[in-house]
Amino acid sequence: TKILLGKVALVTGGSRGIGAAIVRRLAADGAAVAFTFAASEERALALVAEVEALGGKVLAIKADSGDAEAVRRAVARTAGAFGVLDILVNNAGILIHGKVDEFALEDFDRMVDVNVRAVFVAVQAAIKHMTTGGRIITTGSVVADYTGFPGASIYSMTKGAVSAMTRGFARDLGPRGITVNAVQPGPTETDINDIESQRAMLRPMMALGRMGKDWEVASLVAYLAGPQAGFITGSLLTIDGGYTA
Ligand code: NDP
Repeated sequence: TKILLGKVALVTGGSRGIGAAIVRRLAADGAAVAFTFAASEERALALVAEVEALGGKVLAIKADSGDAEAVRRAVARTAGAFGVLDILVNNAGILIHGKVDEFALEDFDRMVDVNVRAVFVAVQAAIKHMTTGGRIITTGSVVADYTGFPGASIYSMTKGAVSAMTRGFARDLGPRGITVNAVQPGPTETDINDIESQRAMLRPMMALGRMGKDWEVASLVAYLAGPQAGFITGSLLTIDGGYTA
């Protein structure tokens, strides 16, 4: 049964990694799915072809999350193409490492723009199109609660901001019947951490002894997007293989 049939979703940062898995999963569940990308045009087009071959409705939109106007246009284009907007998934995110004594101000600003400001901009634009039953889901991170090692302070701060915004938006939008939640993945195998030495360090920190898969995070997002999750709002859902246990 296609539980999201008739629903329209927008996923930011859908060309690769967790975002691409979310696009695949929401489309498989029956939603029409638009997604944004900034740099990975080839990957985006390949994903469109893959989803269409399976009979899905999908649209790729080039929109850098650092550009507020581009984010607003992506929301408007999604609603224009598919008629409505039911589900917004704020997934685009970047990770720039560095300890406090060496971290560049430009990197601080870039990470805040993409990981935090773009979430606010997309939510503000999306709720103009959303009605009761609307769903907003953001990819936060367990680093909001547990950083674990040096060099991740500013990234962790951006995910802490996601967590706080999620609670606040849930209060703002609850009266309109729109739920707002964040998933907080632990270490998950994607391009963001595609360095074997880093993964070798992380694995023993996981209760399950392995990192997560993109589709495992996508399945939690799909659950939150679905009709059975209507009583969950303002929640930060950890999915981390026991990394913080
Ligand atoms: P990837 O680097 O594999 O993918 C990132 C995605 O975001 C790509 O599709 C990329 O598209 C897009 N993106 C990056 N910058 C921008 C931008 N400025 N505008 C629009 N799209 C952008 O990372 P993950 O899949 O691992 O990360 C996805 C989310 O999950 C992020 O928010 C990340 O912080 C979070 N996360 C990841 C964890 C992990 O261990 N992997 C753990 C916890 C959270 P393009 O290439 O086209 O720019």
